[in-house]
Amino acid sequence: MITNDYLNRVYEGLAARNAHEPEFLQAVKEVLESIQPLVEKHPEYEQYGLIERLVEPERIITFRVPWVDDAGKVQVNRGYRIQFNSAIGPYKGGCRFHPSVNQSILKFLGFEQTFKNSLTTLPMGGGKGGSDFDPKGKSDMEVMRFCQSFMTELYRHIGQFVDCPAGDIGVGAREVGYMFGQYKRITTSFQGGMITGKGLTFGGSLARTQATGYGLCYFTAEALKCMRGDSFAGKTVVISGSGNVAIYATEKATELGAKVVAMSDSNGYIYDPNGIDLAYVKNLKEVRRGRIKEYADTHPGTTYVPDCRKIWEVPCDIALPCATQNELDEAGAKALVANGCTVVCEGANMPSTPAAVEVFLNNGILYGPAKAANAGGVATSGLEMTQNSERLSWTFEEVDSKLKGIMEGIFHASYNASVEAGSEGNLMVGANCAGFLKVATAMMAQGVTY
Ligand code: NDP
Repeated sequence: MITNDYLNRVYEGLAARNAHEPEFLQAVKEVLESIQPLVEKHPEYEQYGLIERLVEPERIITFRVPWVDDAGKVQVNRGYRIQFNSAIGPYKGGCRFHPSVNQSILKFLGFEQTFKNSLTTLPMGGGKGGSDFDPKGKSDMEVMRFCQSFMTELYRHIGQFVDCPAGDIGVGAREVGYMFGQYKRITTSFQGGMITGKGLTFGGSLARTQATGYGLCYFTAEALKCMRGDSFAGKTVVISGSGNVAIYATEKATELGAKVVAMSDSNGYIYDPNGIDLAYVKNLKEVRRGRIKEYADTHPGTTYVPDCRKIWEVPCDIALPCATQNELDEAGAKALVANGCTVVCEGANMPSTPAAVEVFLNNGILYGPAKAANAGGVATSGLEMTQNSERLSWTFEEVDSKLKGIMEGIFHASYNASVEAGSEGNLMVGANCAGFLKVATAMMAQGVTY
């Protein structure tokens, strides 16, 4: 609950102006609730309208994206870029291509990104973008024409010192490659750092593909070690989704000695008591772009349930939601607790509803919030930009060890901030406070600009 008068006024005003943006309001409310002790300690924030500025994006760009499908028919989608906060660096955040994309979802993602990027300790502001275009079922040529049209408008708003997009749901190496190519063509400038997640032959970083999933496991392992004196070894793990984050979280959790028994896509989930055959899932999802149901057809003893939200009923020690926002609700959280799960760390952005988070906190679950636990992706994007600026490529081991160090650092920064805020061990409060403080200090120092 927000009890501070100033924060209440800001939130009420925001809610009145953005009543049709539930995901954005959900993300803001969580942060404002967490940072109350800091705002009370710093009355100058109110005098400088700091929170009013923090919750309003610096700029929102929307545009038409026309493209021609394989049948010769003209299609029109809507493109967006939310440039949320540039206090500590150029805007940085992924592009999402999914039919559910709208302004509320991208504003919540851009807002969250601001604090996540701050936690990485790298100089990156917060942004997010995308389109309601659905790459599923489209040919490579259709995806290419869409990406080229999208970048033909977006290019004028971005650049390595301005705003640096990356991938997200529906945007992987293929889409990033097409967008980079079009940007280079239009600007006649090879700016490596203007987009990340690039192919390895033109400035991409080793370990970027693995970074979010691996980083999630590094964060979780450090939290388990420091807060529980425990590890992944011998644990049963449930991971939702079967995209980039889910696949590499499965890979690292397995490498650390756990058994991952369930994965999903938006149609349903699979439960394989023998442990997921990840080589099969990688081929299914990264190469053939098929449905998770096919796993059950080819793996005897596996159950397929055609309802992805039921995945939380699978008994496990550790749950890693890695699909999408609000995929884990109160009923899912209660099922996890009832079946003995004691750790939930978020690979997806805001996958747990506020009611689910309350269940975790009331039941002593070790809860790792997304903006801390999944920051490995953007951290490694930051490392990709560094390599591009240096015109050098680091080895996989070099990037991976920096990623591990950053994730462990994020855990400790969040834990220490939770102690300072009087909520020891509440990593949600800790991550929000630690992420906020750096951004707030930079905004205060720069005066009332944005
Ligand atoms: P992908 O597109 O690679 O995979 C997304 C997965 O989630 C797919 O299995 C997809 O199933 C499933 N999914 C998507 N939408 C829904 C939905 N509405 N309901 C149920 N399942 C759904 O995306 P990523 O793995 O890259 O991203 C997953 C999450 O992680 C997102 O929240 C993203 O913002 C976050 N994230 C990603 C980072 C990255 O580096 N990629 C960095 C930090 C956060 P289907 O194929 O059926 O759509």
